[in-house]
Amino acid sequence: MTMRPIRIIGDPVLRTPAAPVTSFDAELRALVTDLMDTLLGAPGRAGVAAPQIGVSAQVFVYDADGHRGHLINPTLELGEDRQDDDEGCLSIPGLYFPTPRAMRATARGMDQYGQPLTITGTGFLARALQHETDHLAGRLYVDTLRGETRRRALREMRAGSYAPRSR
Ligand code: ZN
Repeated sequence: MTMRPIRIIGDPVLRTPAAPVTSFDAELRALVTDLMDTLLGAPGRAGVAAPQIGVSAQVFVYDADGHRGHLINPTLELGEDRQDDDEGCLSIPGLYFPTPRAMRATARGMDQYGQPLTITGTGFLARALQHETDHLAGRLYVDTLRGETRRRALREMRAGSYAPRSR
């Protein structure tokens, strides 16, 4: 097991769009293994994306609703129905906020051997696919919050000293 330390909000790597993977080699497979070890070492979590362990590459792993796997260079297709359950992130420890997401998502990309791979999910799995794909674009789930929920998130992140102090 190689669990890697999780980068916390405020680390620039979390805000950097990750580079597409171009080499499907042993180094990539080691990254996928480390990501899965890191995820399985964080019980109850639905996914980890490479930037969260400091690697700017379009790779994530997920473990949601009994589905476990990885995806590389993903693109998302979203259904129109919405869901609004609580969401959290290993990079923003201890906080959860109701977060609007599509109820259904299809993620298309490649596996660690460069073969095409499509994952379709609803509910929690769909939420995980959206959350992890956002990480690869340098986005965090708190960015999508609006109104009072957003204000509460900013307040609680400041209280947790995760976010840079605002003026
Ligand atoms: Zn996250």
